[in-house]
Amino acid sequence: MKFSASFVLLAVSAVFATANPLQAVLLHNEPHRVASSQDALLERITELSALNADPVELYKLVDPEGAAGLDEPRLLHIWGEEKAEWLTEGDKLRLHRQGLKFTDITETRELGNKNKLKVQAITEFPKISYGTRVRDVISHLSVHNLRDNLEKLTSFFNRFYKSENGAASSHWLYLQVLDIIAKADPSIPLSIRKFTHTFPQSSVIARFEPKHPSPNRTAAVIIGAHQDSANYLHPLLPAPGADDDGSGTVTILEAFRALVERKFTPEYPVEFHWYAGEEGGLLGSRPIAAEYEALGRDVRAMLQFDMTAYTKANHTPTVAFITTDVSTPLTEYGILLAEEYADYPVQRKRCIFEVRRSVLICLRNFFFLGAKLFPRAGSDHMSWHDAGYIAAFATEGDPYTEFDPYVHTANDTMYLPNGEFSFDHALEFSKVAVAFAVELGGWV
Ligand SMILES: [Zn+2]
Repeated sequence: MKFSASFVLLAVSAVFATANPLQAVLLHNEPHRVASSQDALLERITELSALNADPVELYKLVDPEGAAGLDEPRLLHIWGEEKAEWLTEGDKLRLHRQGLKFTDITETRELGNKNKLKVQAITEFPKISYGTRVRDVISHLSVHNLRDNLEKLTSFFNRFYKSENGAASSHWLYLQVLDIIAKADPSIPLSIRKFTHTFPQSSVIARFEPKHPSPNRTAAVIIGAHQDSANYLHPLLPAPGADDDGSGTVTILEAFRALVERKFTPEYPVEFHWYAGEEGGLLGSRPIAAEYEALGRDVRAMLQFDMTAYTKANHTPTVAFITTDVSTPLTEYGILLAEEYADYPVQRKRCIFEVRRSVLICLRNFFFLGAKLFPRAGSDHMSWHDAGYIAAFATEGDPYTEFDPYVHTANDTMYLPNGEFSFDHALEFSKVAVAFAVELGGWV
């Protein structure tokens, strides 16, 4: 949300209207300065948020209109908790303050029920066999495009799913995808869809249709990232979201562009999804997965890219796969693809060993390849996983030791010191996205 003059006036009138402790603080701290500029108001929100003022109270005070739905009951599954519980839209802001993430299942409680009755189609994956073509597409990927697109994407005040800014950034993204499609060779069957939601931000779906459609090859290969961002201190504050998940957004946009440029014509439908509202509890991906399930549409495999550019100082940059809430066979296949086509090392199994009867035993929790995510973190692949489809999750490093400390703050920018934000790193993931599209989608 941009801070217009009327917005500031509203905020100030709210300050004078009633007298609770929070308003008193705002009032006490030179309200005329608050009125003088939007920067001052932002400063006050930041300050009060840092003082732990309740984010919902603060929201109602400074933007009563925007805060209208905050008392609405929502059924939230907090990650790491056993069960979902009824909280409110405003409680999401309180959870964010505590660094907690969640899935909002209010409208999608039935997700996965129908698919449970079906036998999963694919458990084995094709042999890697499109080396020449994949490498040709990869050679047309450009770091400059990643940088240009991310510069624009992060220039939005924030990309909060409930805000006008979130709607505007989503429309900008839609136009970028549309522009790529408009420039495509007319012989490539491509389509684009704005998937609208109950909030202002839309998801965007681009699709390569199979060259020769066949009833045996209707299952889609899906590559995803989330386009929204959020400042967990307060949603009215700036959230450039360069790494989370602007990086994944431009990573897959560049893979899509290069595939179009090299006239990719798959055997299976191949889709690129840019999800809205991930930070609101997977609010973009869940309705999409639910629609596919309701329509009986099959998904061959889904791969999410969330955070692809952060490179911790003094750490070797890698390609990593998360092992929670994913299909293990698909994760192993993703690792194989990354080892084949990416130039950075791919994180492998990390066993935590225990000595039992003088034998080293690799503890079961760490048996799988890749890095295990915090129990309270995740991304949009979980929606597909919950819907009963095969999904995996690629990310920039080990979440335990290489986690980006700037995410969900105003400091998640592409201008980090000491090369901590690396477009070369993100490009490695564009390579993985290309490989995933071609090796699983086939190429006629
Ligand atoms: Zn994210």
